[in-house]
Amino acid sequence: MKPEEKIIDYKSILDNIYSSISQEENKGAIATYIPELAKIESANFGVCLLTRKNEEFGVGNWQVKFSIQSISKVLSLSLAYQIFGDKIWERVDVEPSGTPFNSLVQLESDHGIPRNPFMNSGAMVICDMLVSYYKNPKEDFLSAIRELCHSSEINYSETVAKSEASVGYRNKALCNFIKSFGNIENEPEEVLDFYFHICSIEMSCQELSRVFMFLANPNFTTTKGTKVLSLSQTKRVNAIMQTCGFYDESGEFSFRVGLPGKSGVGGGIVAIYPEKYCITAWSPKLNEKGNSYRGMKFLEEFTTKTEQSIF
Ligand code: GLU
Repeated sequence: MKPEEKIIDYKSILDNIYSSISQEENKGAIATYIPELAKIESANFGVCLLTRKNEEFGVGNWQVKFSIQSISKVLSLSLAYQIFGDKIWERVDVEPSGTPFNSLVQLESDHGIPRNPFMNSGAMVICDMLVSYYKNPKEDFLSAIRELCHSSEINYSETVAKSEASVGYRNKALCNFIKSFGNIENEPEEVLDFYFHICSIEMSCQELSRVFMFLANPNFTTTKGTKVLSLSQTKRVNAIMQTCGFYDESGEFSFRVGLPGKSGVGGGIVAIYPEKYCITAWSPKLNEKGNSYRGMKFLEEFTTKTEQSIF
């Protein structure tokens, strides 16, 4: 017999954590290396919890859209996994790298095979696969995300994509370097344009929790009534989020929060409790490892106070 499920008052837990963290100093710094991201108001702070039973709880700026940046790498990975299946692991590995997200170092000795799909190098190889597959990559990817989110209100920010392209020398170097090993099929310009666009997608905490439900709810279907990933594929994507989702701080996030998740330099963090819920926190100031300072603190307190974690 299944043990009785504990009744948790999510709303009051969310409200209490939100008000106590709001009163503390908002430490860290906004990402400024993409000029357009430097313009965001640092006081923004929002959280949205969506449970498998479809109960939705929001607090603070949970309906304000922001730049999801690297969080999009989970979506591109999942769509590529749905399309190509296990073939994708021939071109990208699943090991934490222990190096910065935009590092070129290991690619030389690893012969152009990125360590994991959430580093920029790995995300670019995944983008290359999608560019090869889709007829109109940017339009088709956006349609797939809208189907996942059950909303037509999801868009790229052309301004952010342009802003990143204008300073994206390291990403351009990465893409060209991987191409030199034969692990990029398309022209680097096209892959980079697609990559900058998927990073520029804007969503609110509410939309992100909805779009990521396919990793928390095994019965989730898109607007077309289709499943996104099999149970075994869902397990694998969650596992990569657990081990590689927080740059060089993935161990620390597991230690403090105890859930798989993914962060982005826009200050968003999505975390999944498989079969239970999806929670998204957003606060633009980042700690020295590039993860949202308040977002991480919030999620740590959330799993502590609810006494729920996968471990
Ligand atoms: N578009 C960003 C970059 O490539 C993504 C960074 C991130 O959120 O980790 O630098």
